[in-house]
Amino acid sequence: MTKSKETGWNLDNSYARLPRSFFSFINPTPVLSPKLVILNEKLATSLGLHVEEMQSEEGVEVFAGNHIPEDASPLAQAYAGHQFGHFNMLGDGRAVLLGEQITSKEKKVDIQLKGSGRTPYSRGGDGRAALGPMLREYIISEAMYALGIPTTRSLAVVTTGESIIRETELPGAILTRVAASHLRVGTFQYAANWGTVEQLRILADYALNRHFPDIEADENRYLSLLQEVIKRQAELIAKWQLVGFIHGVMNTDNMTISGETIDYGPCAFMDRYDPATVFSSIDIQGRYAYGNQPNIAGWNLARLAEALLPLFHEDQEKAVELAQNELSGFPDLFNRHWLAGMRAKLGIFNEEQQDDALIHDLLNMMEEYNADYTNTFRALTFDQLDDAVLFGTEEFKQWHKLWQERLSRQQESKASSHDLMQNSNPALIPRNHRVEEALNAAVEQGDYSVMERLLNVLSNPYAHSVEQDEYSAVPESTIPYRTFCGT
Ligand code: AMP
Ligand code: MG
Ligand code: MG
Repeated sequence: MTKSKETGWNLDNSYARLPRSFFSFINPTPVLSPKLVILNEKLATSLGLHVEEMQSEEGVEVFAGNHIPEDASPLAQAYAGHQFGHFNMLGDGRAVLLGEQITSKEKKVDIQLKGSGRTPYSRGGDGRAALGPMLREYIISEAMYALGIPTTRSLAVVTTGESIIRETELPGAILTRVAASHLRVGTFQYAANWGTVEQLRILADYALNRHFPDIEADENRYLSLLQEVIKRQAELIAKWQLVGFIHGVMNTDNMTISGETIDYGPCAFMDRYDPATVFSSIDIQGRYAYGNQPNIAGWNLARLAEALLPLFHEDQEKAVELAQNELSGFPDLFNRHWLAGMRAKLGIFNEEQQDDALIHDLLNMMEEYNADYTNTFRALTFDQLDDAVLFGTEEFKQWHKLWQERLSRQQESKASSHDLMQNSNPALIPRNHRVEEALNAAVEQGDYSVMERLLNVLSNPYAHSVEQDEYSAVPESTIPYRTFCGT
């Protein structure tokens, strides 16, 4: 037992008070010889955890699942999901929820160990995770957070001292993930398919209470729940598009109710602008390509609406009508967020009808001339228009003139436009080759300094500092980058 006063662990277990069919109580499977390889000290502190205690032998035993903090009641959550369009029963097959940490600010966040051993939902899997992918999730999720994008966070990674078998033998690891909650679209699909309507209602009330307390008193609060999730996802996906983030596995079990990005598997950032970009080696059809993400989000939200139908209205025909009415607003909501973000990326404060065309003209040219997405906007921000093919073209020069005219039609000064652009266009993203380099040094050589430097430059992407320059270079390789559902 770990004493909470010394460590800062202060866990509630509201999920364990839901109907028993929603989860299985299960302890993590102990590991041989855990070692802490990275701790997110700032995050730990903000959660009310004591950094020195977390680094102690006892603290590490908790991250490894060998010791259970006082007041935790570890459980694996049941959920379902459409994976690449196919509906399956899933659940936490290699993760346990320790409980909900009550932070110093009285917020509640899930603390989950990922890679902690088999559960009743593991099916054929070993319940474990490899070090490389857990470090990758750590890097990308923290980079997303720094970019201002809602996301689960990474608190710690420990190695287990045990090997796991994939294509080869790999070092095992456990990631401690922090989330507003782990409620997914798939959690509702599970309740709708295998639970009673009463259980579905309990789950929906739980979600309302946890994430949307302001609408708990609404006349049709379940329809409001759908509406709020649609709003958050529209905003989230727009943010992904604006930085060129490609999730890679937008299955319904990987879409949260809270509006946070979750499950960093084969995700990656786009280099040159191309809506057809796919990184995941298993996404052969391009279902989850960059340009498809908004449509897929809409599709997933329709699955959420379907699951919630019994709660919208007694008359199911009426319920469908209400749901469709909400869903039909998604494309427009998304577009509004995306347009607002694109205007900011171009230093535009007010709205003009032709902005949409101005933006699409730029994107089309970027695609035609293989321009790097991030670096093009960065070059526009600092008016450094020399080192890309795009900038030398006549087409671009004409576009640039129209853009400058557009800027001069607003009241704000050039300087404020520049500031807006600097705060809207990151100096750098976690470039795939940089992430690989950091992971190789850590996994192959046990050298974490490369990763720590990378995390450091990624922690302030809008700073545009000199140290970030070397990290913004585009890889020379023309071989398409591939990510694997490496687990
Ligand atoms: P994901 O592709 O990460 O969204 O996971 C899909 C499903 O597979 C979830 O139910 C996971 O818990 C499960 N899963 C993934 N890896 C493993 C593993 N090594 N052992 C058991 N279950 C796993
Ligand atoms: Mg998942
Ligand atoms: Mg995964």
